[in-house]
Amino acid sequence: MNTSRTAPSHRVVVVGGGLAGLAAGALLADAGAAVTVLEQRPVLGGRALVVQQKGFTLNYGLHYIVGGHASPHYRILKQLGKLDAAPLTPVKPRLLHRMRGGGLFHVPSTPLDLLTTKLLTPRGKLGLARAAVVILSADPETLWRVPVGEWLDGFAREPSLRTFFLDLVGPLSFEADPEALSAAHFVLAVRPLLMPKGPIALYPAGGWIRMFEAFKAHIEEHGGSVQTKAGVERLEIARGRVEGVWSDGVLYPAESIVLAVPPNDLAGLLKETPVDGLGPERLNAIRPTMGVAVDLGVIGLHNEQIGTIELPELNGTLGVHNLFEPSLAPQDGHVFQFLRFMTPDQMADKAEVDRTEPMILDVLEGIWPGFTQKIAVRRILIRPMLTAASHRFDQPKPDLLPVDVRTVTGLYLAGDATASAGELSHSAGNSALTVAALIRARAGLPR
Ligand SMILES: Cc1cc2nc3c(=O)[nH]c(=O)nc-3n(C[C@H](O)[C@H](O)[C@H](O)COP(=O)(O)OP(=O)(O)OC[C@H]3O[C@@H](n4cnc5c(N)ncnc54)[C@H](O)[C@@H]3O)c2cc1C
Repeated sequence: MNTSRTAPSHRVVVVGGGLAGLAAGALLADAGAAVTVLEQRPVLGGRALVVQQKGFTLNYGLHYIVGGHASPHYRILKQLGKLDAAPLTPVKPRLLHRMRGGGLFHVPSTPLDLLTTKLLTPRGKLGLARAAVVILSADPETLWRVPVGEWLDGFAREPSLRTFFLDLVGPLSFEADPEALSAAHFVLAVRPLLMPKGPIALYPAGGWIRMFEAFKAHIEEHGGSVQTKAGVERLEIARGRVEGVWSDGVLYPAESIVLAVPPNDLAGLLKETPVDGLGPERLNAIRPTMGVAVDLGVIGLHNEQIGTIELPELNGTLGVHNLFEPSLAPQDGHVFQFLRFMTPDQMADKAEVDRTEPMILDVLEGIWPGFTQKIAVRRILIRPMLTAASHRFDQPKPDLLPVDVRTVTGLYLAGDATASAGELSHSAGNSALTVAALIRARAGLPR
């Protein structure tokens, strides 16, 4: 018997089977922890849910991985050796478009594009080089509480140049009021586009479910488990240290707990076990980005050139997703998603919400006459949470949730409401990397 020589395994329970929870679970299983992931819904993925309908694969949430090889998604899959199981395809920049004043323009992606684009006046083009220097050399730490609209006034006043930059805000941050994005977030999101080091974005081949299945497989290959229909009701905390979580009357013991759920779910979980520093006031102060998604599957449309259209005048963005991942649509089919970013007032107004579908169908009919007759699948989803935390200047990164809950030993948070670096799902991925590194170091895990 050599059991005495085996280090006792460090038990980690991860609550939430979305991107953050599954990535954290896979990284920790890889490091040698005994991992259990508990997801309340019957399917994995959280806001990156994938649904099959009439031969179309609709990603109801997550689509693009902005930032290419620097993204946490790529780094995590690479670290786990799972890039073969869940390949990431580069997004072709020539397929990216923007609509302004009824005209369809390429989104400039090379220095030559920038010189020739009609989105900027000659004066705007002259100002662009100076503005790029300001953005590349700015210190984000001084800009968290500055609205980007105000910041641009200092060095990009020329109207076409100002509009050019503000048009990037919606697709990069999902913020309904572009002028109000924190200038620090703007700088961090736009810099990689000004100085790309590889593909500007990646697309998960086969849809997101493939990435989640790869994480699940990794956890199971390392002796852990991933359970669905396993909602966690409360935590067990004694003498300032975690002891486990309760799900369906069963206690899952743990030395470390990772809560990878958005703030509203966190508030429910902590109702019976309040944690200092995570009271309802703090959780309720976090504002999500919100909007309406229109998913369409169409048959019999000819299109090889238009992969995305940014629609800043509609406060939205449109993706033709099978152009990045052909398996999402049947032969002769296309998968569209229009995402409209909305304010809380707009979301509360049914007539405004109902305007979303005719609004985008008008645009699509203008580009492809007869489009509406070709629709085979149609879904409208009202999304009170696109990203769990907005990055407005009045809700900047320092005010978001900590990854390391210092008031309770063994308690960690992950997800896109944490103060981890990055826009959209990047903070979910980055928080998973941080949590895994902290637990690995503190528990002295073998790898
Ligand atoms: C329409 C749409 C489009 C998007 N497009 C993009 C994009 O192109 N690029 C991008 O980077 N991001 C995009 N996003 C954002 C991205 O989807 C999210 O940032 C990311 O999925 C968040 O992952 P998460 O793990 O933090 O949270 P979630 O995905 O919300 O996962 C949390 C999980 O916890 C579970 N849970 C909650 N409470 C409990 C409990 N008590 N017990 C057990 N389980 C529980 C939930 O069921 C859920 O599965 C988009 C989002 C939407 C809605």
